[in-house]
Amino acid sequence: MGSERTEISSLGEFGLIDHLTQNNETRHASTILSVGDDAAVIDHFGKQTVITTDMLVEGIHFDLMYTPLKHLGYKSVIVNLSDIYAMNALPTHITISIAFSNRFSLEAMDEFYEGVYAACEKYGVDLIGGDTTSSQKGFVISITAIGEVAPDKFVKRSTAQKSDLLCVTGFVGAAFLGLTILEREKRIFEETGAQPDLEDQSYIVGKLLKPEARKDIIDFFAESEIIPTSMIDVSDGLSSEALHICKQSNLGCIIYEDKIPIHEEARQFAYKLELDPTACALSGGEDYELLFTLAQADYDKIVLNEQISVIGYMTDAEEGMHILTRGGNKHQLTAQGWNHMES
Ligand code: ADP
Ligand code: MG
Repeated sequence: MGSERTEISSLGEFGLIDHLTQNNETRHASTILSVGDDAAVIDHFGKQTVITTDMLVEGIHFDLMYTPLKHLGYKSVIVNLSDIYAMNALPTHITISIAFSNRFSLEAMDEFYEGVYAACEKYGVDLIGGDTTSSQKGFVISITAIGEVAPDKFVKRSTAQKSDLLCVTGFVGAAFLGLTILEREKRIFEETGAQPDLEDQSYIVGKLLKPEARKDIIDFFAESEIIPTSMIDVSDGLSSEALHICKQSNLGCIIYEDKIPIHEEARQFAYKLELDPTACALSGGEDYELLFTLAQADYDKIVLNEQISVIGYMTDAEEGMHILTRGGNKHQLTAQGWNHMES
């Protein structure tokens, strides 16, 4: 933050809203009415509408000790867009509601909104409203995202089929390791005052602080005429998300440990901390990748896409949910990762 500090009370609530939205642009013809009235109006011209909402609470979901406000604004939008993409839909609009105490200056809110607008621009969504209120202490952010999809082309968690391939995008496990290093550096700073040195860990820290949503994958699906049989975004760790697909589709699955895509920097940092990289991928979280199932007949359509890894396949529910390790052992998957007690 710069040296200037403007008290938000000098503008008042309406002054603040005007200030934060004065350069707000709309990009969609569907945005009939945006910020400034009792409600926004959108017209989806025969498409189906997908809606999701997420709340982020200071001290629970983020720590302003090591989260720049601009990154926080960006990420708050991304986590919502990720849910829209996970439905195989394209986000078009967001609303954003904030509550904050007088600890936050106008300059701080400007930084936060810089991140919000950067995400809106990059992902082509219109900010069409929100709500502004005060809190006693922390910063609370609630965002609702709205998206559109061609009639009945949305993809649920519950429609995977036996023998489908289980696929994941990008790399998993890195955001958890990014969080681990930032928490560690925060402790060191609090104890010794030493400034953090994160240079060698730019990938894992970036994955936590500035995640992207996988619009590229949804565009690729459309271009390649792929409709996954089920899909979910990876916010709570691979294991927990795979369990959701299995439970809701009434199936089991096998995941091969050696097929789980883990970035080299994440793997090296996990070893340094004596953590198991696979466990980080299974039970970490906040990767915002997509986990989806695909009919085997569509394998040829994804095989050349380096952003997609086939990590296993779907089985009958009776076979349960398992990971096959590099060493050839079979462990049961749990929401927390795997069950080491069983072999
Ligand atoms: P109301 O009292 O009818 O809820 P508000 O005064 O809260 O209206 O909001 C006025 C307009 O500003 C509305 O269009 C609302 O959606 C928008 N708005 C309020 N807060 C924010 C915000 N933090 N970011 C973007 N738009 C906002
Ligand atoms: Mg209001």
